[in-house]
Amino acid sequence: MEFIVGVFDHFIGNFGDSFRTEATRYWLGAGGIFLLTWVVFAGLLKNRRIRKPLPSKLRNKQMWREIRTSTLTVIVFTFCFSITNQLMIYFFGGSIFQIYSDVSDYGWAYLVFSVVLWSIGLDTYFYWTHRFMHHPKFYKFFHLTHHRSHNPTPFTAYSFAPSEAVLVYIFAPVFFILVPMHKTAFICAMLIQIFRNAIAHCGYEIFPRGWARHPILGIFTTVTHHDLHHEKGNGNYAFYFTFWDRIMGTEHPEYLARFDRATEAKEPMLNQVPAK
Ligand SMILES: [Zn+2]
Ligand SMILES: [Zn+2]
Repeated sequence: MEFIVGVFDHFIGNFGDSFRTEATRYWLGAGGIFLLTWVVFAGLLKNRRIRKPLPSKLRNKQMWREIRTSTLTVIVFTFCFSITNQLMIYFFGGSIFQIYSDVSDYGWAYLVFSVVLWSIGLDTYFYWTHRFMHHPKFYKFFHLTHHRSHNPTPFTAYSFAPSEAVLVYIFAPVFFILVPMHKTAFICAMLIQIFRNAIAHCGYEIFPRGWARHPILGIFTTVTHHDLHHEKGNGNYAFYFTFWDRIMGTEHPEYLARFDRATEAKEPMLNQVPAK
């Protein structure tokens, strides 16, 4: 009982700050990529649209739904933060996160390395939890909300059911318990994460032609990679890198051809079912 009271006390006391931080991150990434790809460079990118319908058709119902569900995700994240905080007080008497603020503790090379490690760790965590969420038994409860965006927008980035939001949240506290990370490295990792997430859902292939087939650059996923996942509902489960899908044989067989078409197309290519 004391634990539950502590969680709610912390949640109410810190809600303003936590919500502001998480919501700012979401709006920086989703809003920023929306402005860049759908407004500022819309003309330049018009032949890079991966699928119909065009953004104007998605703007009304879908985008507002995504903003609503993403706002709920931000609230779930702040609540999870309060639970984590209380769990550490309850079991360990205080924080056991290995977050440090003096660069000289581990040096600059380690600081950069920790961001790389975070990205590889997150991609691995995402790949396996994503496959778990696509299991028919769990799909509806965890992942259906995200896939309601059949043709995503940058605002799809945090459009999760609360259950999926909890699963997404868990990676960070586990990482901080296991791996020392400088505050700046954490901020960089989180910014990369939200921008990369919004880019993956932007609907325009912004990566240069030849990228997906390049022996080194091809390790990094493109917009088409995740867009194809939303279109087909299977395959291409990873987030940053292509290696898990390649090792596990889950890369969508059309991925490379579709990337080639997205980067050479003169017109939006496929007449897809309009987003609900
Ligand atoms: Zn999925
Ligand atoms: Zn997605």
